Amino acid sequence: MQEINRRVVLSRPVQGVPVASDFEIAETPIAKPFQGEMLLRHIYLSLDPWQRSAIAGRHSADGAPLRSGDMPPGEVIGEVVESHHPKAQPGDYVRFMGGWQEYSVALGEDVIKLDPEQAPLSTYLGVLGMPGLTAWASVTQLAKVQSGQTLLVSAALGPVGSTVGQIATKLGATAIGLAGSDEKCRRVIEETGFAACINYKSDDYPESLRSAVPNGVDVYHDNVGGQMLIDAINVMNDYGTVVLCGLISQYNDASAAVNLPMALPIMKRLTMKGLVVYDYNDRQQEFFDLVAPWVQDGSVKYVEDRATEIISTGGHFARLMRGENTGKSLVVLGPERVG
Ligand code: NDP
Repeated sequence: MQEINRRVVLSRPVQGVPVASDFEIAETPIAKPFQGEMLLRHIYLSLDPWQRSAIAGRHSADGAPLRSGDMPPGEVIGEVVESHHPKAQPGDYVRFMGGWQEYSVALGEDVIKLDPEQAPLSTYLGVLGMPGLTAWASVTQLAKVQSGQTLLVSAALGPVGSTVGQIATKLGATAIGLAGSDEKCRRVIEETGFAACINYKSDDYPESLRSAVPNGVDVYHDNVGGQMLIDAINVMNDYGTVVLCGLISQYNDASAAVNLPMALPIMKRLTMKGLVVYDYNDRQQEFFDLVAPWVQDGSVKYVEDRATEIISTGGHFARLMRGENTGKSLVVLGPERVG
């Protein structure tokens, strides 16, 4: 085992859209686990839009942004190297909030043990992880999507959006995606089975959206906020449901917020529901029991956008926050489990 732990830290405070040079590598000794703890070697690092808010301080108690030398938080899949806790033993795989680094020490009660026989380990960060739980909560708990309905979802190739559309399709709804390029839309339809996908950056948008949903939209799952939310509400049917899940159009620049004209949801008698995934943490098993068999039999697909090596983490995160990722953004530190 190597003796040095490499972690990714801020090289300077991040302003606006992150760039690779906002991040640098720092080396620390690998920490020793004590009673009740375990040492993890990270195999996958999860990159998620919420980390941009965390860097800006919006996830901390004091609201202070991360400073030079601070490491962003993040979920990881790790292999247990040394354990002083009964929950997992060396060779076991766990999910933990281990941060952007190669090794971490976890309190035993803070890790979730994973079964690599049930699904590829990386899926526990995406379709079978927090993004998948978010999608399940939206479709089955908040919108309560019914067969025959039309569901629209933004950021449709991302892990939340693609899972929203696929669960809705499984329940008999028609899933329509919004995505930021023709190529993303092609993959949304061909790889994840959506009925249609509209490139919201094309010249004829939002007219193209209106033509794609001649019978209107019953449920809109919003990952983006801003003008896309307004355009989506404009094609909604009366008494429809909007699930407010994300505001990625504003994470790099809070001043990009756009006021929603409140007459719109009033006139359409809409129900608007906010979603916070952590409200569903104690329903993980219910989610897993529904979605894992679909992942196992290949009828629910997942798309991953992988980088390798710890040094590529900052640049890969910048790509995510520029909207250039295609699927679940993760860094593979490896070695990956074979079989
Ligand atoms: P994604 O991979 O979908 O997020 C990145 C994608 O967002 C981009 O590829 C891009 O897709 C789209 N995007 C739209 N506008 C912008 C912009 N201005 N800058 C950058 N990207 C943009 O990530 P997830 O699936 O993990 O998350 C989707 C949303 O759900 C996020 O807003 C996230 O914060 C939210 N979320 C909320 C949770 C909750 O509890 N409320 C839990 C989990 C996630 P395109 O080119 O197609 O527009």
